[in-house]
Amino acid sequence: MKHQPIDIAAQIISESEKPIALTGAGVSTESGIPDFRSAEGLWSRYNPAEYATLGAFVRDPVKVWNMLAELEALLDAQPNAGHHALAELERRGVLRGIVTQNIDGLHQAAGSGNVVEFHGSNRTFTCLGCGRRYPRDRVRAMPRRAGTRMPEPGPCAGRGGGGSARCVLKPDVVFFDEMIPPAAVEASDGMVRGADLILVVGTSCEVYPAADIPARVRSQGGKVIEINLEPAEGLRPDVLLRGKSAELLPALAARLRN
Ligand code: NAD
Repeated sequence: MKHQPIDIAAQIISESEKPIALTGAGVSTESGIPDFRSAEGLWSRYNPAEYATLGAFVRDPVKVWNMLAELEALLDAQPNAGHHALAELERRGVLRGIVTQNIDGLHQAAGSGNVVEFHGSNRTFTCLGCGRRYPRDRVRAMPRRAGTRMPEPGPCAGRGGGGSARCVLKPDVVFFDEMIPPAAVEASDGMVRGADLILVVGTSCEVYPAADIPARVRSQGGKVIEINLEPAEGLRPDVLLRGKSAELLPALAARLRN
């Protein structure tokens, strides 16, 4: 008889027809990227209101860039066993797709194909003045403004051009006071519609509107399986697997192989 929560979760997944996943920062902590709210998370060191709003960025881009530069080493992070397990589930036709709040691109690096990046990505950067877009590798190679960590792409065509002002690059991630990109809303709506199960992995479900997605799946009769170190407040999953996603997701995938 199988009464372990992980066996029950595997059973529910195997019986569902359109399972999807919602992932958050926790799925990448074992790749070395700190999450937001854990004790040693990013926001224990940086106040989000000071660093992660468009208003803050426009007021003082150098200050925000100094923080972003501290995170630059994380760009070399590699997907962990949890990312790989989700990719395997998609490859085998078990999982329909992932809505991720992460901006690190690690699901795609692991081989997941159907990924909605709800909060944008750190692969590209856009100039707030002229709208020119730059890939990350070019931005990494740019000179920095004297005495700061802020990249200097050169004259900004939108601010008079001719060297009178310099481009200010913002990563194409969604800051707390920004709208979710319409294409991401549309793609996630398509994924959520008809989903009869959602795996909620490594997210505190505190950032809206992403945090609403599990309730939307439930409201159409779907089930919720949560994989989290700390359970998300108010989620009330059908099954809670408490622990590390890099251990629990491969264990779940292994059960679903049999
Ligand atoms: P969060 O920090 O609010 O919550 C992280 C959750 O993951 C917590 O519930 C925690 O208990 C859990 N967790 C931590 N390590 C885990 C592990 N190894 N296995 C399983 N669970 C683990 O993050 P959030 O809910 O994603 O929301 C905050 C915002 O953070 C998102 O908008 C996201 O864009 C942004 N963010 C992204 C990254 C990234 O791209 N990797 C990193 C930091 C923050």
